[in-house]
Amino acid sequence: MSSDEKLYCSIAMGGWAEIGHTGEPLDTPNANGDVSPCCPGWLRDDNGETGYVFGNVYTDKWDKVWNSNRAIKFRESILDGSFKYCNETLCPHLQNVHSNPNVGSIETAPYVRKMKDIELLYKERGEHHRNIIDNKLTKLDFSPDLIKMDYDRSCNISCPSCRIELVTPRGKELEKIEKIQDSVVEVIRNGTRKLYITGTGDPFGSATFRKFLVDFKEEDFPSVKTIRLHTNGVKWTKELWKKMSGIHNLVTDAEVSMDAATEKTYNVVRRGGDWNQLMENLKFIPKEIEWFGISMVVQDLNYKEIPMFIELRDRLVKESGNKSIYVYFSKITNWDTFTEEEFNKRAVWKSEHPEHEDFVKILNENVKKEYWQERFMGTNMVDLLV
Ligand code: SF4
Ligand code: SF4
Repeated sequence: MSSDEKLYCSIAMGGWAEIGHTGEPLDTPNANGDVSPCCPGWLRDDNGETGYVFGNVYTDKWDKVWNSNRAIKFRESILDGSFKYCNETLCPHLQNVHSNPNVGSIETAPYVRKMKDIELLYKERGEHHRNIIDNKLTKLDFSPDLIKMDYDRSCNISCPSCRIELVTPRGKELEKIEKIQDSVVEVIRNGTRKLYITGTGDPFGSATFRKFLVDFKEEDFPSVKTIRLHTNGVKWTKELWKKMSGIHNLVTDAEVSMDAATEKTYNVVRRGGDWNQLMENLKFIPKEIEWFGISMVVQDLNYKEIPMFIELRDRLVKESGNKSIYVYFSKITNWDTFTEEEFNKRAVWKSEHPEHEDFVKILNENVKKEYWQERFMGTNMVDLLV
């Protein structure tokens, strides 16, 4: 590979820290301080196993983890262009390498650039990357730009596609989560700009995250500029939101995973949820959040509701006046919560599923690529679109 074609990933070089997520939800302990440079599902270790961990922030001090031997080895693999711990078939950023300058918000700029386009990356992702490359820095003296807070799996509901039972850590587990949280808060105070809460549980259903968000004051975290919330939305009530006034200016992006357009289906796929409360909450949430979206994990039980789900999005646009509301459809995955037989029944995206043809027809009629831009639509089932 010529040196011009060599790649550089800004996420790997201090862009992110993903804390507590193993990439396999069912294998993730309820309280976990493992630190990875990005989504563990996109990474592979020396032994070929999924994931790459720098260290653990529960057992070690942050500085030791962030600049551990494993972190240094990982960063070397980026600087030498081998990307040997990255799985190019799964990392979306490696699949999105192009030479075009970014258009739109700076937050959407590519994280990975070829060396011939590196001046663009410096402009879009920060001049400090010039220093990293020029001086081959593998030890970093700044906090990650983005922290994904995945160290608490607590959730107020238990979707069968995600877990077998309710996860509500108590006692020693809760103490562990709080200790991890204390360390993470210190890291955030030292310069993190973006928070993502959360990819493993619920920001309002978790006692630890809820308290963090209620107590949050901008003056205590001057570097934090945005917070993304990923939630089932049930506990995001008007009353609780009022108590979180310190984050109102910062939450510019939120996704409510709903998985259904009717109460009947919702009660099955979102076990323990409260449809009426969610509908009540959706009367105000889209007005508050600039980039708001609803999402559906598509399965045999809900695929016929895809058109209604899009109508629900359109209704929310109309009622809230927020034209940027997006809708996202994703493929169901078996995180070992289903037996093989159960999963095959759910996985309507599989060509051998008896309703596959019907599903593909509905998907193609409603999630057409030409609608994406205009109606803020997306899916990871692009391979099924004709
Ligand atoms: S290239 Fe992808 S997998 Fe590798 S560090 Fe960057 S984001 Fe992670
Ligand atoms: S709402 Fe999200 S975190 Fe909670 S059980 Fe469902 S899928 Fe899992």
